[in-house]
Amino acid sequence: MEQLKDVLVRGTAWGGKIRVFAVRTTELVRELQRRHNTLPTATAALGRTATAGAIMGAMLKGEEKLTVQVKGNGPIGQIVVDANANGEVRGYVDNPEVLLPSNAEGKIDVAGGVGREGYLHIIKDLGLKDPYRGSVPLISGELGEDFTYYFALSEQTPSAVGLGVLVDADGTVIHAGGFIVQLLPGLTDAEITRLEQAVGSMPHVTSLLDQGESPEGILRRVVGDDLTIHDQMDIRFQCKCSRDRVLQTLVSLGESELQQLIEDDGEAEIVCHFCNEAYTFDRAQLEQLLEQARPKPIQ
Ligand code: ZN
Repeated sequence: MEQLKDVLVRGTAWGGKIRVFAVRTTELVRELQRRHNTLPTATAALGRTATAGAIMGAMLKGEEKLTVQVKGNGPIGQIVVDANANGEVRGYVDNPEVLLPSNAEGKIDVAGGVGREGYLHIIKDLGLKDPYRGSVPLISGELGEDFTYYFALSEQTPSAVGLGVLVDADGTVIHAGGFIVQLLPGLTDAEITRLEQAVGSMPHVTSLLDQGESPEGILRRVVGDDLTIHDQMDIRFQCKCSRDRVLQTLVSLGESELQQLIEDDGEAEIVCHFCNEAYTFDRAQLEQLLEQARPKPIQ
């Protein structure tokens, strides 16, 4: 299987009046599919959300990070994706085993899986006391249009968002990627119309990836050749969990809860939602934690 590194490019177009991002997320979505054993409808929904998350992460700087939550009324349940400015992305869906028949266009029925009603929440940790929160109702459930609506309504930035995941008949991910094109002040009505027509008439992102287009190539299909790429970054799956963090969580349960856990189960298995890694603790290890959880005498 083709092994191209996942990259994100960002730049400007049309004399600086358009901000552009495009990303290939094939390896990231393959990793998400593998870790969570998602079936195609869930793979596409999680993959599209992770692709949007990767791009929105690239809009941040330094240690800033964000969480995307899609809470629709479809069978997939909640979709959660974390991303940061370093290109690290992780995510999960409540119900990975969702496989619906193709929609009327013969594509994966993402809206059927996500649901056409619900909310898209964006939570950004910008290092301030309170995180930034933006929410919009879902307007389609296909996710591209929902992110477009979020940018227009919550961030007052008119944008075009294209997200795509192509899944093979056996459930493996063939291609994944997307773009976000944002209109900055100064565009004329004629230019806005030209851009809308270009976005409206271009092939689906997965078709472009299937034709071998790079992220930069996808952007050229949207904005033409008046495009300047400013930089490029790697995108990859990365989870922040560790045995140490899980230990801290267990200790923070407190003495009586830990005591109960030892008596009832004699062991513990904690599975990370985001990466599906299982951390197990036997009785001896739990008893050691119990020692740590006991309040220390004041000396
Ligand atoms: Zn994890």
